[in-house]
Amino acid sequence: MALRLYDSLSRTVRPLEPADPPVVRVYGCGPTIYGRAHIGNFRTFIAYDVLHRYLEWKGYEPRFVVNLTDVDDKTIEGAARAGTDLGSFTAPHGEAFLADAATLGIRPFFDTPRATEHVDEMVEWIRRLEEKGLAYRAEDGSVYFRISAFPEYGRLSGNRADGETGRSRIDADEYDKDDVRDFVLWKAARDADRAVGAVWDSPWGEGRPGWHLECSVLSVGALGETLDLHLGGEDLLFPHHENEIAQSQGATGHIFARAWMHTKHLRVEGQKMSKSLGNVYSVPELVERGHAPAAIRHLMISAQYRKELNFTFDGLEGSARAVQRLVALHRRLHDETTVDDAAEPAGLAPAAEAALEAFEAALDDDLNSSEALAALFGFLRDVNTSLDRTGGRARSDELEAARDALASMDRVFGLLELAMADDAVDDDLATWVEQKIADRKQARADKDWARADAIRDELTERGIVLEDTPQGTRWSQG
Ligand code: AMP
Ligand code: ZN
Repeated sequence: MALRLYDSLSRTVRPLEPADPPVVRVYGCGPTIYGRAHIGNFRTFIAYDVLHRYLEWKGYEPRFVVNLTDVDDKTIEGAARAGTDLGSFTAPHGEAFLADAATLGIRPFFDTPRATEHVDEMVEWIRRLEEKGLAYRAEDGSVYFRISAFPEYGRLSGNRADGETGRSRIDADEYDKDDVRDFVLWKAARDADRAVGAVWDSPWGEGRPGWHLECSVLSVGALGETLDLHLGGEDLLFPHHENEIAQSQGATGHIFARAWMHTKHLRVEGQKMSKSLGNVYSVPELVERGHAPAAIRHLMISAQYRKELNFTFDGLEGSARAVQRLVALHRRLHDETTVDDAAEPAGLAPAAEAALEAFEAALDDDLNSSEALAALFGFLRDVNTSLDRTGGRARSDELEAARDALASMDRVFGLLELAMADDAVDDDLATWVEQKIADRKQARADKDWARADAIRDELTERGIVLEDTPQGTRWSQG
């Protein structure tokens, strides 16, 4: 089956058709590294990661590039406020982003280029655009893109160059443009830029690249002139992506991106994220409050990337419980089932097959991660029902099939992977708990009830909850 994605340019769901399969060239707009990325940003980056992992799952070879915007108004202001130079200011924010991404199980990307490392190429691009009559120099030494010379402008957003619609802002310092809609490619240096070292030489004098240009140059530089897929949050569609298309197709003469994917913005407790509402959470803040990264990740993929998603603390608790059920399923399939090759089939193999089929169909359908999760949790219920019925016995072949299906789905979801990594830290704890359970069993066999109770109390104190079942004692961290 083919992976179909909603393409914002053609406004249709279309099969992914990479130019050069199995390679898939993907570029996603990354964070501006002027502060800690928030969970809204991470809705977008987890969606990137689900796509990244699913492309691999389907046998593609994704080349997935996500940039770090390290020079723009916000980073320059941040450096000035911190009283340092631009590079010293952005470096720790870049590191923090990569660390938070790893915390949430986002796999390393093929490349994460920083804009300031490619300014020479950006200057070269502007020169090319100038030669083609697509750029002009203003009196102050800034260079602008001439939208009127690029008739295709507006195809992505519907905001045409010949109308007044959609102009989101006109910067106060962009006063001498030929046309208000033209956007900056090179910004002439101001004192504020010089003060933090955000200036580079160019044929037009000292200055710095415009934000839109950064993404065109970084993506084409890393992946070639035509991308298979370009990603970003919905807010970037206009003017950022429209401008990227104009610059890129203007400079190279080739289609810039064969398809465009945009993620819907996360809301928090029903509201838009904003500093004034105090609902802009970072990953470390949530982890410090005791929320597991796997739970955050589960919540983020519980809605398909184009659907409304409301982050709530109730929802996060629900996600934590869902992850615990998955971990329990993993433990049951690996440690708590008795292998009995003479037994009747418990039905695990057909359940695994059906789940994988539903999982793939859901993700093929425009990365419908919520439907894919439903397939996983349907599987969880089926396995538990079957094993309850057989008294925890299963044949080795079907056990193998069930374990493989769980592992396979988790290659995309990355939930067990994260939860078990958390658990790995707790491996010592697990060993300790298992030993205590064994001691308690022995104490009960010896009818030493006081000792058995004391062991249970000791476990309770450590937050371990015991459940005695006909198949033995199960434990969980309450
Ligand atoms: P920025 O650091 O502001 O450049 O944003 C980095 C990425 O996060 C962009 O693709 C944005 O569209 C995306 N983004 C920003 N806010 C949200 C949000 N609330 N929900 C989802 N994505 C967001
Ligand atoms: Zn971008």
